[in-house]
Amino acid sequence: MHEALYYEKLEDKKVRCNLCPHHCIIKDGKIGICMGKENRDGVLYAKNYAQTTSIANDPIEKKPLYHFYPGTYILSISPNSCNLSCKFCQNWEISQMESPTQHLSPERAVEFAKKYKSIGISYTYTEPLMWYEYVLDTAKLAQKEGLKNVLVTNGFINEDPLLKILPLIDAMNIDVKSMDDSFYRKICSAKLQPVLKAVEISQKSCHIEITNLVIPTLNDTDELFHKLTDWLASVNPNIPLHFSRYFPNYKMPLPPTPLETLKRARDIAMKKINYVYVGNIHQEEWNNTYCHNCKKLVILREGYFVIEKNYSNGKCNFCKTPLPIVG
Ligand code: SF4
Repeated sequence: MHEALYYEKLEDKKVRCNLCPHHCIIKDGKIGICMGKENRDGVLYAKNYAQTTSIANDPIEKKPLYHFYPGTYILSISPNSCNLSCKFCQNWEISQMESPTQHLSPERAVEFAKKYKSIGISYTYTEPLMWYEYVLDTAKLAQKEGLKNVLVTNGFINEDPLLKILPLIDAMNIDVKSMDDSFYRKICSAKLQPVLKAVEISQKSCHIEITNLVIPTLNDTDELFHKLTDWLASVNPNIPLHFSRYFPNYKMPLPPTPLETLKRARDIAMKKINYVYVGNIHQEEWNNTYCHNCKKLVILREGYFVIEKNYSNGKCNFCKTPLPIVG
């Protein structure tokens, strides 16, 4: 068992975990909210170290990352852990309850990534920052081998551990689930502010893209779309924004998001954000990339696949404007 990196010992063999803003106080023999940390005899351990629920070689577009090595594949692995409890979780079988895992050492993960010609490793599907100790060790090895490290995360993490891991991370997709703190509290048992802070810090260090899952009646007002747009534009208007269509799952029975709502969100965001996409739908042109300067098509996609690229050396082939695309 690997000892956890961020915690303090309290009286009566209790510990306080300081990895994420929950700051769980965990009694001897108990686990934290995320299921990934366990107190054994007053010592906090990373219970989920090197245990993965899934191994797949995904198109990078599936993360979604549309501006990071478009058209490549990435080894995708995930812990049986999450620090949020979103009622609409699309992966609840592996994030919200104990599920089967298999052992995957950092060395084996790197070996697989190389064997399957992935550009690197994506820590994804559930909440990879709850796999902190393992991600840190694996990402160090991967970086030494010239592989990329990608986090697909809810961004609900404390600042110190985030700053420590960022030098190893090449790209992140961070969920901003709503600009309304009460949504985070009621629907996800979390808070908005640490997530916004994580985006602001991370974008200074690596490539990032944002996902906003749009759920009817819960986070789909014009006011919230404007808030998200204004905030993201103030951070960096070149950060790609992915609206994603919701489908009923886990404890959320609401019907799927209407296309008109997604169109409304897209129209609002496109006034200030240069690259806006809509995922989980068959509306191919909403998933293509158009140069923010000349508006010509620079990446044509079909589903998760890149069909055509019209840029080279980071510049649009038509107007030569530098594009915010890595790789
Ligand atoms: S990382 Fe897990 S155990 Fe630690 S504070 Fe967050 S939810 Fe609690």
